[in-house]
Amino acid sequence: MTDPKQDAAATADNTIQQYDAIVIGAGMAGMYQIYKFQEAGLSVRAFETGSGVGGTWYWNRYPGCKFDSESYSYGYSFSEELLQEWNWKEHFSRQPDTERYLNLVADKFDIRKNIEFNSRIKSAKFDESQNRWLIETDAGIKASAKYLVTGVGPLSAHTMPNYKGMDNFKGGSWHTARWPKEKVDFTGKRVAVIGTGATGVQVIQEMVNMAEHLTVYQRNPNWCAPLNNGLITDQEQTDIKASYPEIFDKCKQTHGGFIHSPDMRSVFDVTPEERDALYEKLYAEKGFGIWVGSFYDTQMTEEANQSRTDFIANKIRGRINDPALAEKLIPKDHGFGTKRVPLETNYYEAYNQDNVDLVDLRETPIEEVTAKGIKTKAGELEFDYIIYATGFDPVTGALNRIDITGRNDLKLKDKWSDGPLTYLGLQSVGFPNFFTLVGPHNAATLCNIPRCIEQNVEWVTDLVGHMEKNDLKVVEPKPESEKSWTEEVLAAGEVSPFMKVNSWLSGINSNVPGKQERSFQVYAGGAPKYREYCDTESGKNYDGFSIS
Ligand code: NAP
Repeated sequence: MTDPKQDAAATADNTIQQYDAIVIGAGMAGMYQIYKFQEAGLSVRAFETGSGVGGTWYWNRYPGCKFDSESYSYGYSFSEELLQEWNWKEHFSRQPDTERYLNLVADKFDIRKNIEFNSRIKSAKFDESQNRWLIETDAGIKASAKYLVTGVGPLSAHTMPNYKGMDNFKGGSWHTARWPKEKVDFTGKRVAVIGTGATGVQVIQEMVNMAEHLTVYQRNPNWCAPLNNGLITDQEQTDIKASYPEIFDKCKQTHGGFIHSPDMRSVFDVTPEERDALYEKLYAEKGFGIWVGSFYDTQMTEEANQSRTDFIANKIRGRINDPALAEKLIPKDHGFGTKRVPLETNYYEAYNQDNVDLVDLRETPIEEVTAKGIKTKAGELEFDYIIYATGFDPVTGALNRIDITGRNDLKLKDKWSDGPLTYLGLQSVGFPNFFTLVGPHNAATLCNIPRCIEQNVEWVTDLVGHMEKNDLKVVEPKPESEKSWTEEVLAAGEVSPFMKVNSWLSGINSNVPGKQERSFQVYAGGAPKYREYCDTESGKNYDGFSIS
């Protein structure tokens, strides 16, 4: 193991700190990886762009930001003491509470001391002569480590549109993932929100009660369903704490790591009354049940999904007073559940309020942002604030923003220019000792993410432990392992319902001009199957890797 102080003094260039491992990011993945490396006795340094821990839950502090997974299924599962100590307040925790939770974790497991905050890694290069990674931050800090692990998140590289005149706007404007830390008072203000994905939906339903007037700029509507959130009662708290093993066990068995599992009947095996009764029940229940807890085939074929899609469309019609407006909010180009379903609280009712307008960008596209507001062919509207809820450059976006160079000066971005090539979504040939937690081709993005984060981190820690125990220097996948895993990912993507529609998941994602090729970047075969692949690999002594 490396003693950073001693090695720093010993090195020729003593400004380069030496570690066993460097972790990029101190979100939920990075934090757990730091903890596991600490526990294993490795010297570890994490570099985090933000000034605090939490990643997604640090940056996304917009009003309404909260989990769409049940809180008690989302927290870390690795510490019984933590599980018993922490009380989730709501079934779906809001960002401020989640950020508090993650700060508690950082303190309780003493990981803060190993994080360099306000530090963005701009480059990482593998030094073949030393078998070590050298990183450099924006501020010129350099550090070297045997292992480099990224925990940069699949949805952290936020994207802004490129409308003419955006810089001219005199009011306040920002992306939801860069919401100001200081409280913004929207009382008496005119606010525009652009984007109606899961983020836009959460902001809109809060903003309608904060601003004097809200204008929503929608390009394509999304299918949304009720979150049905609520406070956790004392009795529920007691029950939750007593049943954590069952909760996590359930999550382990389901395709997406959620506590909801599909009804194993076919939608065609029940009467229309029975079918609608299940939809009604799920619509009234908390969380993703209506999406992933419905008849199993509703997530498999368009025909099976049609009745659920019709059911949700009618629910939307029933919740919006103006029928023409309701039609604008109902997607017509894809079925319910074929994109990530935003969960909502009175989202549709927001459009019944007098202080809300919807601008349909398919009818009247934005021509420019002016000093005072937004101009479409229907005219100019004036605003005090413009909020961009315009999404992310997904999955590979945050990795591509770092200049990562492997063997023979190969750039990761170049290697992946036609789509990622990985083994198990965790390593790529030519990039030894480099691991991508929740990386492309990994099941974790399509997962109740902390459940899959824990699996990723534990698997990587075991492999690193194997390397250290056997005094091994370098690990990278065999080319044939990478080829077969990449084929497996693409094959699983081909049959996924997500692949047939346009969204950040299918690669046809208009958030990112120039990055619109239909390619499934995440493993859609399900978390249990993915875990099985990983376990098989470690069980055969990492035979799919070249280790020396
Ligand atoms: P998103 O789903 O990609 O939505 C971006 C929105 O911005 C879309 O409505 C898109 O319209 C619109 N947009 C993008 N560029 C635009 C432009 N130039 N002009 C006008 N509109 C534009 O992003 P997101 O809402 O941030 O959500 C991303 C993912 O984050 C979610 O799918 C989810 O996985 C995660 N998330 C999770 C939670 C949670 O757990 N509670 C909350 C929020 C987000 P088009 O549809 O027409 O492209």
